[in-house]
Amino acid sequence: MKFWHVVLSPKFIKNVPASIPIEEILSAIQVFSKNSGSLKVRFQFPGSKLDTTNWVLESPDTVLTELTQIKKIPIRWNMYQISEFYHIKRCNFCQAYGHTTKNCHHNIPSCATCVGYHTTKDCLSEYCFCVNCFSKNNFDHNNPSSYHSARDKRCPCYLTEIELHKKSRHYSHNWITP
Ligand SMILES: [Zn+2]
Ligand SMILES: [Zn+2]
Ligand SMILES: [Zn+2]
Repeated sequence: MKFWHVVLSPKFIKNVPASIPIEEILSAIQVFSKNSGSLKVRFQFPGSKLDTTNWVLESPDTVLTELTQIKKIPIRWNMYQISEFYHIKRCNFCQAYGHTTKNCHHNIPSCATCVGYHTTKDCLSEYCFCVNCFSKNNFDHNNPSSYHSARDKRCPCYLTEIELHKKSRHYSHNWITP
């Protein structure tokens, strides 16, 4: 006997006013995606704009594909962005990927902005230097591809993590024979 392992992928709706109930958001999505009844609300966290919230919804791959094509949905005459949510763990203390601050075994912080031995919030540096790209480039201080913050969403190390994350998700597409 074979089982089809359904992959649930989170979707991410950005900066929706906190006053709009989730039911209204779900019915707005339903207009565009006929299978969206299978969406599950995972969690929410504050948006980047005041009094807004980000919703993370879990969806089967079929709905994910539909929503990826839609990209935006109108709610109360405004457009809201839908995008894939990547749960990439990055340590805020040493900036390494794969663990969180709580599980960090470093005693000295690495600044996300300048790679100095101080916490990111205490940084006074005027330049950016990425600790992850710095290690990857064999500690070459003069490599310009390290001149960005470790929190930069365009950081090559971050993009690599996303690719790995996507691959690990697609792994579950395989047939599973018990
Ligand atoms: Zn760490
Ligand atoms: Zn710094
Ligand atoms: Zn980087």
